[in-house]
Amino acid sequence: MDTRENVPGVERKVWDLIRELSHKLKDITSNPVLETVLLATKVLGVRKEDIISKDIVVSPEVENSIVKLVERRASGYPLHYILGEKEFMGLPFFVEEGVFIPRPETEELVEIALDLINRYGVMMVADVGTGSGAIGVSVAKFSEVIVFATDVSEKAVEVSLKNAKRHGVLDRFVVKHGRFLEPFKEDYGKIEMILSNPPYVKKNDRLPRDVLFEPPEALFAGEDGLDFYRAFFEKYSTEGKIVLMEIGEYQVEGLKKIVPQASFLKDTSGKYRFLYINRRFS
Ligand code: SAM
Ligand code: GLN
Repeated sequence: MDTRENVPGVERKVWDLIRELSHKLKDITSNPVLETVLLATKVLGVRKEDIISKDIVVSPEVENSIVKLVERRASGYPLHYILGEKEFMGLPFFVEEGVFIPRPETEELVEIALDLINRYGVMMVADVGTGSGAIGVSVAKFSEVIVFATDVSEKAVEVSLKNAKRHGVLDRFVVKHGRFLEPFKEDYGKIEMILSNPPYVKKNDRLPRDVLFEPPEALFAGEDGLDFYRAFFEKYSTEGKIVLMEIGEYQVEGLKKIVPQASFLKDTSGKYRFLYINRRFS
C-alpha cells in the first residue's frame, strides 16, 4: 500500500486530490467533480482535457492553492467568478464580481435574434443592460450588425468592452454607461432591433446561494419583477422596431397588461421566456 498519499509535503496525483476535494462541493453544486477539475485547471494553467488524460502530479504548494479555491467555492462563491470566465454561445466571456454571469437560457434569445437579423437584414441592434456583453458581443460576432449597448454598471461597461475586444468586434460594439437607451438618444431612430435580458426577479424571491453574490441591480426589478419592462415601455416607442427580451417563467400575464402589443415565444423546454414585438416587418 502506498502510504505517501496523506503525508504533508509529498507530491500527490491530481486525480486523488480531485476525488477527495470534490466531496466538499456536494452540497453546493450538482457537478462537484467537474467543478473541482475546473478549479484545478485554473491553478495548474492546463486544459480540462489534460487533467483527464495526463497523470499530473502536484506539489504541496499547488495542492494548497487548489484546496483554497475549492473551499472558496464551498462557501457558495460562484464558480465563474473564481475561474474569471464563462462560456456563452461557444465563446469564453470574461466575468468578475459586479458583473452578471451569462446564463444558458439567454443563448436561446441570441439564436432567435440571429435568425431575425438574417431574415430581415437587420443592421443596427441595441443591447440594453449588456452585463458582460454576452448578447451584444455574440450577435456582433455571428452577424454583421452594429451594436449599441448600455449598462447602469460601470464595471459591466468595462468588462463588456474587454469581451468585445477578445472576440474581435470592438469596431461594431459601442457601449455606454447609462439607463435604458438614454446614452443613445440621438441614435434611437436608427435602431432597428432592441435586445435585452433585463433584471426580472421579484424583490422577495429566494435565490440560490451563489446567485446572491451577483449584483442586485442585475437581478431584482421591484415587487413583481416587472419594473424594468414597465419603465422601458413607458419611455420608448416600439414603432418600426423589433424587440426581443428575456422574461421570467410566470410573467406573461403581467406583461400582457404592460405591453399589449407583445407576443410571447417559448424556449426549447416549452416555457414562455421571451417577449417579442415586431412592428418593423409583420
Ligand atoms: N445581458 C447580460 C446577460 O444576459 O448576461 C446581463 C443581464 S443582467 C440579468 C441585467 C443587466 O442589466 C445588468 O448588467 C444590470 O446592471 C443592467 N441594468 C439593470 N437596469 C438597467 C437599466 N435601467 N438600464 C441599463 N442597464 C440596466
Ligand atoms: N434567470 C436569472 C437567475 O438565474 C435571473 C436573470 C434576470 O433577472 N435576468 O437568477
